[in-house]
Amino acid sequence: MEYISTRNKSLNFSFKDVFLQGLAPDGGLFIPKKIKQYSENELKNIAKLNYTGLTKEILSKFCGKDLEEKELENIIKKSYSNFSTKDVVNLKKIGKISLVELFHGPTLAFKDIAMQPIGNIYEKFIKVDNKKINIIVATSGDTGSAAIAGLNGKSNINVFVLHPDNKISKVQRRLMTTVDSKNIFNIAVKGNFDDCQRLVKDMFADKNFREKINMSGVNSINWARIVFQIVYYFFIGLKFLNKPISFSVPTGNFGDVYAGYIAKKMGLPIKKLIVATNENDILSRVINSGEYKPSKTKPSISPSMDIQVASNFERLLYDVVGKNDLKVKSLMDKLKNEGGYSLNKKEISHIKNDFSASTISDRSTKETLKRVYEENQVLIDPHTATAFKSAEVHSTGEEMLVLGTAHPCKFPEAVKGATGVEPKIPESIKNILNKQESYATLDDNIDVVKNHILERINES
Ligand SMILES: *Cc1c(COP(=O)(O)O)cnc(C)c1O
Repeated sequence: MEYISTRNKSLNFSFKDVFLQGLAPDGGLFIPKKIKQYSENELKNIAKLNYTGLTKEILSKFCGKDLEEKELENIIKKSYSNFSTKDVVNLKKIGKISLVELFHGPTLAFKDIAMQPIGNIYEKFIKVDNKKINIIVATSGDTGSAAIAGLNGKSNINVFVLHPDNKISKVQRRLMTTVDSKNIFNIAVKGNFDDCQRLVKDMFADKNFREKINMSGVNSINWARIVFQIVYYFFIGLKFLNKPISFSVPTGNFGDVYAGYIAKKMGLPIKKLIVATNENDILSRVINSGEYKPSKTKPSISPSMDIQVASNFERLLYDVVGKNDLKVKSLMDKLKNEGGYSLNKKEISHIKNDFSASTISDRSTKETLKRVYEENQVLIDPHTATAFKSAEVHSTGEEMLVLGTAHPCKFPEAVKGATGVEPKIPESIKNILNKQESYATLDDNIDVVKNHILERINES
């Protein structure tokens, strides 16, 4: 299996390179050179697999020889053994909508589904290389805790998590800051998520720093995350081979919904991928008008989507401009130098073949939370609610599968505010409410953050 950069298709990388480096050396994103296409018959066959069997099937199409079959099988079994449902994900009918519950992992958000196996793959790759590694990750709330849960206590791995100070929910923060582990370091940055993401990108771009600390990343640009997310589109989609389906996906960094796009390219029959954003709506703007132009991030009641720089969009862009790496590079340069770029009519219609998008305001999210509760006595989380609403807007009679990305108890203030009902916290995480927290609060300044990290590494 070979990978290339979206900005230079003449460079070749292995799955292991891609896994450990995260970002291509030229600043582009890694994508596979070729993608497996399933025939109708093959789809019928893999539809019989259970979740872990299907994960192994899909993963084997992306990791080449870097993970032997038996190793991969062990990693997958171990990773999903601590999920609270038998088949990792769960399907629940709510009125006309089918909710795909992806939040049964240790930190109650869909990010566990990729991060648990990623933690175990790191452990395996590191053992072979006998090197210490420092993982630096920016989080809008859920990635950080999932990364910590996946990497906590692993030897020769430190994890530094940057979250925007005061801009994530208390439950999200406590899931990270109460983990009392020698290899986990939490940093609250005085800024927003895009600032955290920029700090991480700038640290990666600094070759000296990157090599000095043997830096690695697990942000949503990490290709391995995409691959593990492709699996649940197949697992659910394969249950509906006899009728048209669309997926509605709450979207921030364009990682989750991009995984659905790859599933579609691999032959899973999906009519539309429906993008739901909150008022940080760069993605619904680019899909509807072709203009990719970040504006100022605005706090919302779905904070994990308070993102204006949707990094994974560059991967779709590569296909949209006809796999022209130089064009991608020039558009990304334009974004950097002029603050945005515009797609032409043909490019927009290419996107619209696969995607629809809506912006869901906080007001509409609250209204949806309330209505879903009153009509069905089901609490959903605010992110899921944006996708729920967007599914209703775009429905044309097909089976609508809404991705439920987090458990409502992670956002108790928003859920209670809209429905009057406080979501119950599962026993599995109750202990975080009274444990001691530990984190540093730092200015949004690259040198301050770098020095803080270097000091911790030297002590460890
Ligand atoms: C991260 C996250 C999202 C957005 O996912 P992307 O892959 O960034 O598009 C949506 N909902 C929740 C609960 C999340 O944690």
